[in-house]
Amino acid sequence: MVAPLHNANGHRRRQVVARVKAEEHDCALCDQHVDKTLNFIAGEHGKKCPSRDCIGCMPDPMRGEVDEDVPRSRGGSPYDRGNTHLMHRKCNQFKSDMTIAEAREKLHGAKTTTRTVTASPIW
Ligand SMILES: [Zn+2]
Ligand SMILES: [Zn+2]
Repeated sequence: MVAPLHNANGHRRRQVVARVKAEEHDCALCDQHVDKTLNFIAGEHGKKCPSRDCIGCMPDPMRGEVDEDVPRSRGGSPYDRGNTHLMHRKCNQFKSDMTIAEAREKLHGAKTTTRTVTASPIW
């Protein structure tokens, strides 16, 4: 039997994800450290929690996820190491279908509300 194509792609994706997680340590969007031990929030459960023995199944917003710089929806490759980066889950959700550059612009544009008053050249 021939292995289904999506399995082969899943393998490629897992290899890239493993490489990114091994090589990167900071979030590609906010530059903060990513704690790779984080996974699920203990004691918090999703609507479809399968088991009463579950210790927690809601993903931690600060956990590390591997995201594409140029999103798949815009033609970016999820298998290209150059297009994949480590990112906090919450940053990944903020980024959505933007590129990292676009998301950074939005992030910093919203943050820098104080305008520096520059001297007018007329004076
Ligand atoms: Zn981040
Ligand atoms: Zn659960």
